[in-house]
Amino acid sequence: MIKQRTIKKSVKARGIGIHSGAMINMTLIPADIDYGVVFKRMDVGGKLVRAHNAFVNEVVLSTSIENDGVKVSTIEHLMSAFSALGIDNILVELDSFEVPIMDGSSAPFIFLVQSAGIKEQDVHKKFFVIKDKVRVENNDSWAQIAPHEGFRVTLEIDFNHKKVKESGQSLSIDFAQKSYLKEISRARTFGYIRDVEYMREKNLALGASMDNAIALSDDDVLNEDGMRYDNEFVKHKILDVVGDLYLLGANLIGSYEGYKTGHLLNDQLLSSILSQPDTWEIKTFERDNSPIQFYSEDWQNSL
Ligand SMILES: [Zn+2]
Repeated sequence: MIKQRTIKKSVKARGIGIHSGAMINMTLIPADIDYGVVFKRMDVGGKLVRAHNAFVNEVVLSTSIENDGVKVSTIEHLMSAFSALGIDNILVELDSFEVPIMDGSSAPFIFLVQSAGIKEQDVHKKFFVIKDKVRVENNDSWAQIAPHEGFRVTLEIDFNHKKVKESGQSLSIDFAQKSYLKEISRARTFGYIRDVEYMREKNLALGASMDNAIALSDDDVLNEDGMRYDNEFVKHKILDVVGDLYLLGANLIGSYEGYKTGHLLNDQLLSSILSQPDTWEIKTFERDNSPIQFYSEDWQNSL
């Protein structure tokens, strides 16, 4: 059978919060079968917040979840790493309202999970299998998920900047053929330096720097080392999509396509799917009959 996964032992990381600018301690802790991904706010009495679409409360700059007035922000890059490595059950302790931004990609989280080690648990892993196409639209932007034997993300962004245009605004990644770890995980978030300056004046993005983002001037990339991939911008947006989709509560079997999507549209798409139970089902697989054997070579290689 394809088994559920957690980590072998607890691991700690420390890093800056992009919004608060404060140093944040994060501990990843192994969890029991069927536990899911759960955040624990150590600074507010150990309040728990489940990483699921039902608890999404804000999607403006990043994806936040909230339970009983207790919020956890900027979860999408960590969720993306958990999805990529197929981690079903894990507890994430934080001493702040946000996940540390690290280098603005998911690679440090991948490294953290791999250094803890991945443990298979003796029960079937649950997959979220799309049976019928679901689509949402907002002005000219749209997102949809359709049935597919595996997991594929196809995305077109429309970012009016010379370097983004040059590097390519669209990409399709079939995770049966391409490694998330190699092709996606190192792609950093990006933004205009002038927007960061504006947000700082409003006491936002206090932790943002060239250590955790690609900084854009009007027509150039300001980071001294340049870019990590030729098409790092669209790759980062795919990284975000993978993280947002993991708020379905299980690894997706389906094909996502989007045009000019963001956390808001992804949230609407997931809510729409979850409100139509005839469009999806939860399934388990044996190794030899599963679409998952060509889902991700990363899963095999990371054990
Ligand atoms: Zn992002």
